[in-house]
Amino acid sequence: MLYRSTNHQSPLVNFREATLKGQPDDKGLYFPDKIPVLAEDFIENIIDLSEEEIAYEIIAPYVKGAIPAPDLARILVDVVNFKIPVTQVSKTISALELYHGPSLTFKDMGATFMRLCLEYFLQQQDKRTIVLEVTSGDGGAAIAKAFYDMDGVEVVILYPAGKINMVQEKQITSLGNNIHAIEVEGTIEDCKAIAKQIFEDAALQEKFNFTSASSSNVARWIPLQFYYFFAYKQWIDKVEPPAIAVPCGNLGNLSAGLLAYKSGLPISHFIAACNVNDVFPEFLRTGNYQPKKIIPTISNALDIGEPINLPRVIEIFNADINEIKKVITGYSITDAETKKAIRLVYERNGYLLDPHGAVAYVAMQKYLHENPDQKGVVLKTAHPVKFFEVVEPVIDEPGPMPSSVELELEKKKIYRKMNVDANVLKEFIFSL
Ligand SMILES: *Cc1c(COP(=O)(O)O)cnc(C)c1O
Repeated sequence: MLYRSTNHQSPLVNFREATLKGQPDDKGLYFPDKIPVLAEDFIENIIDLSEEEIAYEIIAPYVKGAIPAPDLARILVDVVNFKIPVTQVSKTISALELYHGPSLTFKDMGATFMRLCLEYFLQQQDKRTIVLEVTSGDGGAAIAKAFYDMDGVEVVILYPAGKINMVQEKQITSLGNNIHAIEVEGTIEDCKAIAKQIFEDAALQEKFNFTSASSSNVARWIPLQFYYFFAYKQWIDKVEPPAIAVPCGNLGNLSAGLLAYKSGLPISHFIAACNVNDVFPEFLRTGNYQPKKIIPTISNALDIGEPINLPRVIEIFNADINEIKKVITGYSITDAETKKAIRLVYERNGYLLDPHGAVAYVAMQKYLHENPDQKGVVLKTAHPVKFFEVVEPVIDEPGPMPSSVELELEKKKIYRKMNVDANVLKEFIFSL
């Protein structure tokens, strides 16, 4: 499989190069040159396959030429190693629980796969690799957990001081070793601006390999397809495929689901669930992409004004906006609606949603109201404990606290404080 750039100005590369480089030089995103089509009997017989077998079948064509079959099979054993159940919440809505991995969000699957690919590709590399990541919380936590203790890889995570919540912060700052947590006295935009300067620094580029571990990296993006297939396997009502609601920020999760759909996974409809940061629903409505300033909300992983994976969504449908509209409906959900859903679903169904799952839940309710013959699966992207500051006042009682999180909260914070100054960060990275 070869990957081209969504900006069409960079040469084709294989999976190895795309993973190590992260982003093509023309600032587009790597995209599979041909989307694989699954054999029909694969879907028909999916019920008889293990999760590992499903994952293998999906990803093998994407890594062809870069990872030989036995090595890929070995890698997948460590990727598909936590449960991903579909739980019935109400009569028409189920939840696909993606939060049983190490950092308690869906991001663990992609982060773990990327770590194992990097480890595999870097075996004969003498230069060290720097993974530089700007995070509003969950992405940094997933990468910290997944990349901890890697040989030859230093992970530098920038986060805005006071803007991430307690569990996220502890997951990023309690590890140490090759995980370097940098608390920046500024906003997420300041963090991004510093990172950009680092990526453009010739001397640093000379000394290290740099890569990005955000969902722009194919090794983190492509494996997100797996759980859409796992959901389908558990979908008993096979007469009609489910509608799927995805809480959307940078559109990595949604675009991976669309890739699965293009390959032949039966899904009746996609619901793009956004909070009031509604760039994508607006794009669906008008056909125009208009970046916006971020409005802070309680579902802060969705507080995105320039969704980085939008070009992939467009590419999957060959830029046919009418086709995109046929497959995806977008909704923009307010904080008040989100809180109300957390409270009501807890009271009536005994099920606790995190704010992101709640945004998807409300969007699904709206969609089902307009399409009463359908049934839906909501992607529950985070464990509620990651957002207990939001959830507990809403339900007016303490939420569940896994013992692993309790232990983590007691750990010492290992981090560096920095002002918004790229030169200080440059010096620090040079010293690694
Ligand atoms: C990152 C994140 C999202 C958004 O996913 P994208 O792929 O950026 O659209 C949704 N929910 C949670 C909990 C997240 O951490």
